[in-house]
Amino acid sequence: MKIIIIGAGPAGVTAVETMRTFDRQTEIIMLTDEPYLPYSPPAMADHFIHGSNLHLWRELDWAEQSGINFRMGVHVSAIEPDSHRIRLDDGEVIYYDQLLIATGARLYAPLAGAELPGIYNFKSLSAAENLVSKVRSGIAKSALVVGAGFIGMEIALLLRELGVEVAQIEMLDQVMAAMLDAETASIALKQMQAHGVDVHLKTKAIEFVGNGSANGVKLESGQVLKADLLIAATGVKPNLDLLNGSGISFERGILVNSKLQTNAPDVFAAGDCVETPDLVTGETFLHAIFPNALEQGRVAGMNMVGYPTEYEGAERMNSLKHLGLPIIAAGEKQGDCVLRERNNNSLRTIYIQENRLAGFQLVGDIRAAGVLHSLMIQKSDVRNIQNRLLDPNFGEGMVAMGAMGVITTFS
Ligand SMILES: Cc1cc2nc3c(=O)[nH]c(=O)nc-3n(C[C@H](O)[C@H](O)[C@H](O)COP(=O)(O)OP(=O)(O)OC[C@H]3O[C@@H](n4cnc5c(N)ncnc54)[C@H](O)[C@@H]3O)c2cc1C
Repeated sequence: MKIIIIGAGPAGVTAVETMRTFDRQTEIIMLTDEPYLPYSPPAMADHFIHGSNLHLWRELDWAEQSGINFRMGVHVSAIEPDSHRIRLDDGEVIYYDQLLIATGARLYAPLAGAELPGIYNFKSLSAAENLVSKVRSGIAKSALVVGAGFIGMEIALLLRELGVEVAQIEMLDQVMAAMLDAETASIALKQMQAHGVDVHLKTKAIEFVGNGSANGVKLESGQVLKADLLIAATGVKPNLDLLNGSGISFERGILVNSKLQTNAPDVFAAGDCVETPDLVTGETFLHAIFPNALEQGRVAGMNMVGYPTEYEGAERMNSLKHLGLPIIAAGEKQGDCVLRERNNNSLRTIYIQENRLAGFQLVGDIRAAGVLHSLMIQKSDVRNIQNRLLDPNFGEGMVAMGAMGVITTFS
């Protein structure tokens, strides 16, 4: 049997490791268009700040030890499920018995001029190297970050650490709107300002401007902002171009069943490129975070080597490391009952919906995150413990290490 995996991110790597637990014989080919061995994207900021090894997540001889054929710098341009083959950019054709699409996501910048050279991002290691090299070489002393979502915040903080003057614009009225409620976001904003990031909310960029190369960002107000480095952190979008003409169904992401199979025979998909149901709400959408990619890689890997496994659903969770104040947000940010407690620099908020813990946001003091997370994913009835949920010592000694593991193993 021959298995091909497209993409060497966390989803693809975990699929390989899962398969190899059961089967050392099957021929596995892993293809990535990046010129690197597998790395952990969440570890990139630490790598550039502290010089930590990006590949610590996996050893450098990982591919060799796993007994796979690992091919870097190879872009897959098409999938032809009827003939069980893929096509590379240079025309090479490779047959498969089973295929895993783990192509992840890329920067999405819905602004005029976004295709101009001179616009940087932090979505891949190549892009990050390119950006940081401009700072290290002394070419860039100021930066303008468009977008204050999770990745935008990471970039802004990284650049401050590297001594760059940073302005950041966000069209919404708060930072990290996809993940944080307004109160928690206001604390995150103050921290960003304390780090010296000049954040402008309700400031919408409409165009990157420049002659041949971008040299400014035009705002809705007509004003043009300039900086040595212009950075787009406006969102991500699954890498789906290779599906064109394949007949493989996708909407915002690839559509899969509970075994992570696509509608094409012997083709599976996992990670940031798929749409999956939410573990808590059941609603299907893109859940582009690291722990989901790992779990989906594991489930796809199990199914591909003949151990039928159901995917239970994706989580919504994130944490921000370089803010100088720990933040963890998980699940929903609304509910029919809201518990909130503020103490100095700490804010703990818990959202309850129909007596179930639907989500929580912890800033400053993140104790009990593991227990809250367990209650949330187990959909436990919290009526009898509701008055204790805000206590940072709640559930001390309870076995919640599994949940904490998910939160702390991003890098
Ligand atoms: C800066 C940054 C910080 C992050 N921090 C966190 C965090 O703290 N916590 C968290 O949960 N998540 C975080 N994430 C998100 C997390 O990294 C992703 O959810 C995870 O990497 C998704 O894994 P994946 O394997 O699906 O895809 P990816 O990691 O995107 O890997 C997919 C790979 O496939 C390659 N590829 C795509 N198309 C093709 C093709 N046609 N041919 C060949 N190769 C192809 C891509 O180049 C890429 O190398 C962060 C992401 C970034 C960028």
